[in-house]
Amino acid sequence: MKHQRKRQILCLCMAGIIAGSIGLTGCGNQVAQVHGDSTITEQQEETKVEVSVFAMDTFMKITAYGAQAEEAVKAAELEIERLDQLLSAGSADSEVGKLNQNGEGTCTADVAYLLERSLELNQATGGAFNVMMYPLMEEWGFVGDVYAVPSQETIDGLLPLTDVSNVFYDPEQRMVRFGKEGMKIDFGGIAKGYTSARIMEIFDQYDIVSGIVNLGGNVQVKGKKTDGTDWRVGIQNPEQEGKYLGILQVSDKAVITSGGYERFFEEDGVRYHHILNPETGKPARSGLSSVTIVSSDGTLADGLSTSLFVMGREKAEQYWREHSDEFEAVLVTEDGTLYLTEGLEPQFESKAGAVHVITQQK
Ligand code: AMP
Ligand code: MG
Repeated sequence: MKHQRKRQILCLCMAGIIAGSIGLTGCGNQVAQVHGDSTITEQQEETKVEVSVFAMDTFMKITAYGAQAEEAVKAAELEIERLDQLLSAGSADSEVGKLNQNGEGTCTADVAYLLERSLELNQATGGAFNVMMYPLMEEWGFVGDVYAVPSQETIDGLLPLTDVSNVFYDPEQRMVRFGKEGMKIDFGGIAKGYTSARIMEIFDQYDIVSGIVNLGGNVQVKGKKTDGTDWRVGIQNPEQEGKYLGILQVSDKAVITSGGYERFFEEDGVRYHHILNPETGKPARSGLSSVTIVSSDGTLADGLSTSLFVMGREKAEQYWREHSDEFEAVLVTEDGTLYLTEGLEPQFESKAGAVHVITQQK
């Protein structure tokens, strides 16, 4: 994550609502109040504020509607900046950077929360989610963009440093210690989902009932659109940038995707991407080209998109069957076939033909 951040656009749209007609226009809402036998349409000024920033190595867009939209978006921007500075593994003076240099430390509340969630997910996913992969991320060159395929010997030498059982964490004191020299933590697989979840909390503080954040393709929405319909979120076609495999209609949900196409390099005709299989220390080759998770918990959605990508389709389906109260998923296999968990069926519009539905009963 880089600290370079740019505020790109600030579009302020004040919409005064036409009294007398009930409905929704542009970026405004109106409130109808019934007094006795007459209906008075109260004029309400609804503001749309949208801002694009570059942070956490990606372009982000925050949109909020409401009387306090500007304050909410400003607070959201500050929160992104704060979390970027805290969580950036690539920066020596971030909290995570210092933990990695010292091999131990006391965590602030955000880092403690992420560490606890990450350790839980590591257990729940049978090790597929592993925030200790950083030494291997460095060796593959995904840190600093100096890509190279490491030798098997190098990988074997680094794998012991990714063993989560060597992370000693005391939740009472929020103290963490890495048991082996050279172990390093990296919340890259979960930080954006946590950030969008935090922005939803900020939206609540400012009474924003309608809003959306897009953090480099990871989306989380507050409520519905101002016209009362669900937000429409496109599922990226892993093979064709800017093209969608389908549209999901959602409200109050995070829609978070992991895919090998997001970051990769090629050597000798082979593609190597940034999601590592903790068992092999190499890019996960599970037969999936992307996984999208839909959940009201953004942090979980991000952690699980990475985890299910590592697991592959069959294990991912089984994981969903055991946790179907927590999330829904869209899986795309390398041959382009689309699988959807059954809860999403009414909300999904396919642009790519047939869809296979994953049901609770096999
Ligand atoms: P995402 O795009 O959410 O799937 O996250 C990918 C990022 O998570 C990578 O760039 C790494 O920083 C980190 N990562 C890679 N492999 C794993 C893994 N198996 N578990 C957790 N984080 C990982
Ligand atoms: Mg993730």
